[in-house]
Amino acid sequence: MDGEVRTYLGVPLYRPKVAFFEFTSCEGCQLQILNNEVNLLDFFSLIEVVNFREVMTERSDDYEIAFVEGSITTDNEIKRLKRIRRQAKMLIAFGSCACFGGVNQLKNRFRDLDYVKREVYGEHPVESKKVRAIDEIVDVDLRIYGCPVRKEEVEKIVLHIALGKSLTVPKYPVCVECKANENICLFDLGEPCLGPITRAGCNAWCPTNRAGCWGCRGPAEDVNMEEMLRIMKGHGFSEETIMDRLECFGGFSPVKIPEESIR
Ligand code: SF4
Ligand code: SF4
Ligand code: SF4
Repeated sequence: MDGEVRTYLGVPLYRPKVAFFEFTSCEGCQLQILNNEVNLLDFFSLIEVVNFREVMTERSDDYEIAFVEGSITTDNEIKRLKRIRRQAKMLIAFGSCACFGGVNQLKNRFRDLDYVKREVYGEHPVESKKVRAIDEIVDVDLRIYGCPVRKEEVEKIVLHIALGKSLTVPKYPVCVECKANENICLFDLGEPCLGPITRAGCNAWCPTNRAGCWGCRGPAEDVNMEEMLRIMKGHGFSEETIMDRLECFGGFSPVKIPEESIR
């Protein structure tokens, strides 16, 4: 196939060299890539994968696009991430751990991180510093949100890159997709849900399966946090329940929560 010009609907395809890297993470976002076997070969025909530890033994540092999964918690990870940044023309923060710390950042809520280490690792300590998102260390060109990322969205993004087309990602909230799916609102069933303030793009995955949104894709544009808190409190949810949800993935930490709204 080398040398052959690939096309998609008659449009010549650029086939970028791509590498996948994991940092502090569960590797679930990379695993998503391997799901959906029906179109796996089509997906891999769009890109030339040169580094992907979960699926291949070959390694090459000759890549243009780096998918970076996970957050940063060690000095060694900082050095490795900077090396990747120097090589990659495009660096993609891949999944919520990479975009804003994800579930890992829950650790940062403890003032004494040594205490956390002792509790978790006991007599076998490992290096584990304050959790940082990828863009706290290096520049990020693109973010793919979710815990885990949604395979269909990754495929769409990769196709746009291969075709050289500009990309639009939803800025509206999950509620829009939820309503389009004709779901009954979970608040009417007594469940809390962060759909009104969370970035869409998952096709309202959780509410469509009768579970409230936990905000794994981070904030939608222009969120009205005060109104969200008023709705939650109006439905009788405690401050603890509200804060557990808002803090779970770290996406809402830049959004100021008015103190008086949760009292
Ligand atoms: S974002 Fe979620 S699924 Fe992806 S690596 Fe982090 S914890 Fe795992
Ligand atoms: S269930 Fe959640 S996402 Fe769906 S409409 Fe209600 S608040 Fe919005
Ligand atoms: S509904 Fe919310 S928690 Fe569920 S996948 Fe979508 S953004 Fe994430």
